[in-house]
Amino acid sequence: MALYVQKFGGTSVGTVERIKAVAEKVKRFRDDGHQIVVVVSAMSGETNRLIDLASQINEDPTPREMDMLVSTGEQVTISLLAMALHQLGVPATSYTGAQVGIRTDSAHTKARIQRIETDDLKEDLAEGQVVVVAGFQGVDEEGNITTLGRGGSDTTGVALAAALGADECQIYTDVDGVYTTDPRVCSKAQRLERITVEEMIELASLGSKVLQIRSVEFAGKYNVPLRVLSSFEEGPGTLIVADEEIESMEEPLISGIAFTANEAKLTLLNTPDVPGVASRILGPIADANIEVDMIVQNVAPTGDYTDFTFTVGKGDYKQTMRILQDDVIPALGGGELRGDDNIAKVSLVGVGMRSHAGVASKMFRVLAEENINIRMVSTSEIKISVVIDEKTMELAVRALHTAFGLDKDSIQSE
Ligand code: ASP
Ligand code: MG
Repeated sequence: MALYVQKFGGTSVGTVERIKAVAEKVKRFRDDGHQIVVVVSAMSGETNRLIDLASQINEDPTPREMDMLVSTGEQVTISLLAMALHQLGVPATSYTGAQVGIRTDSAHTKARIQRIETDDLKEDLAEGQVVVVAGFQGVDEEGNITTLGRGGSDTTGVALAAALGADECQIYTDVDGVYTTDPRVCSKAQRLERITVEEMIELASLGSKVLQIRSVEFAGKYNVPLRVLSSFEEGPGTLIVADEEIESMEEPLISGIAFTANEAKLTLLNTPDVPGVASRILGPIADANIEVDMIVQNVAPTGDYTDFTFTVGKGDYKQTMRILQDDVIPALGGGELRGDDNIAKVSLVGVGMRSHAGVASKMFRVLAEENINIRMVSTSEIKISVVIDEKTMELAVRALHTAFGLDKDSIQSE
């Protein structure tokens, strides 16, 4: 007998039929003798609908009222799912985040879980109840309803699994696992049996959106075995495991390829190379709450001038251009601004890189063979990212996928 926390996302509970199907699935696990805590999202589209309602009434609603509003989506699904379970003869009780004792800080719309009171929950489980919990929400010290940020139900699931010491946290979604890359771009992409927490965090932050990143970090920190699987098809999904556990296994060099066309590149040419130039360029950008990703600084041979290039999210491109033109260039006493928002970032991710040299050079060779020009490079211990022209992105992904032996039905070399 195992204790599972099963989280079902918005698509999985998007219609009455699907809620009934979730109840059937939960019942099967319970019939096998397992204890089940179910965490659900709002029905698909519901959270957006609520946010839209708010925007029609007030341009700038207070975060507290936003949380009061959007937390209702999940309250609908927990009660409907409990009713569906009752219909099948399964004893079940639904709870909001506040009722189940998910305590958070008071950072409305992006609250963090501080602790979870599990006593009542354990009592229900011991009585044979299925416990159905509203994802995405909690309560602060003052009793205000809070929410955990978009996609936050994943984090609720993992946090509950950690607090209960569950055997596994299963995240049911509309894909059947984590893929080597996006199958819509590369038809030879394949499902991974398993991936490490670290790789998953890199892939997620590099643009692959299977799970909320914070939930994966949580799973890593508290050692919760996490599995992503389809709510519509049977299958093992992808197991996300702690990094140590994978070392003994024969692992591929590269686990996945992430890509995003959602960045823009800015360059300041011929800027006077004065002390603190990087902070004088990036400071005003940080002050505007704009996140900078890759940074490259070249120093001219004479040392008096420098070229400084960095990337930001596409949505921040125009504002960043303005800050550089109006504030930074005058303050530095010169510089020429260039910008390009038709770029893409393609990244190889794999813990195998730690113990193998030559990944970068192979990546560069493959891109060269495809005539793809590399504009920037950045690396970490388990990741190499390049910035290339947006129109070459898909070609790059497919070529790298093949070259690194990730294609479906191909035998892994290296
Ligand atoms: N319903 C929330 C959202 O749409 C939380 C979640 O689905 O995880 O972001
Ligand atoms: Mg979701």
